[in-house]
Amino acid sequence: MKFCRFNHDRIGVVRGDLIHDVTSLFDRQLSWPTAPGDTIIAQLPAVHAAGMDIANMPTVALTDVRLESPVANPNKIIGAPVNYHAHIAEANADSEINSGRTYTTLKAYGLFLKANSSLIGPQDDISLAFADRRTDHEVELVVVIGKTARHVSRDDAFGYIAGYTVGLDMTVRGQEVPSYRKSPDGYCVLGPWLVTPDEIENPDKLKLSLTVNGENRQSANTDLLILGVARLIEYASAVYTLYPGDIIMTGTPAGVGPVQAGDVIEASVENVGSLRISVIPAQSTVVGSE
Ligand code: MN
Repeated sequence: MKFCRFNHDRIGVVRGDLIHDVTSLFDRQLSWPTAPGDTIIAQLPAVHAAGMDIANMPTVALTDVRLESPVANPNKIIGAPVNYHAHIAEANADSEINSGRTYTTLKAYGLFLKANSSLIGPQDDISLAFADRRTDHEVELVVVIGKTARHVSRDDAFGYIAGYTVGLDMTVRGQEVPSYRKSPDGYCVLGPWLVTPDEIENPDKLKLSLTVNGENRQSANTDLLILGVARLIEYASAVYTLYPGDIIMTGTPAGVGPVQAGDVIEASVENVGSLRISVIPAQSTVVGSE
């Protein structure tokens, strides 16, 4: 099932060229304090398992809506740095990427968090945070957590997944900590929708690719992930409690490179989907004067 969010928080199932509006199947009445995580994603596995009467839901043409990030309110956005050997090699060979660091293994570096406020949908624009800094594209397979997870073993990890989506982990190159450089508004793009696990036979064997203005920049397969999906969930849940709607960006393959205002990025993951998004100029060059 392709689950989406559209037109100011409507909830949909995508079938072909149509979206079936299934908003009425979800409880949107929130009590305070709300449980951590995304309350709609928390309901998704049970609603899906109960069987949706999708055919009787109102429909709208996919081309007539504005798609939003399939997750509205993650408790956190987790990133896996240097999770492909070829990306480690290119990073170590390019001083603009490594800024003086030498990357060895993912576990030497750990994980990083991106600000939740960086999250945008597939039909937004990426507004550059700085007019004069290198900002790179990173296409990634994204895992969305479906139920609360803590100390989950790799053997049990697939039971905690709500679905998969396409992600862009936009990154300013430089010496600041990743939580700063990867967190400007708009630097986490998700979309176009969430594909439930029953449609993805093996997330560790999916082609992923990225073009800029139609030119190939990244082309790889998740079978090259150093820590695959299950091991990433094990690794992340060993330190963080994962909540429904939490986002795990699994890492980018080789081919990262800078983007500029006016560029159009197209990012795809096999059997998941594609998103096409524009890069627009920095809104201000005034950043944190002393
Ligand atoms: Mn990344």
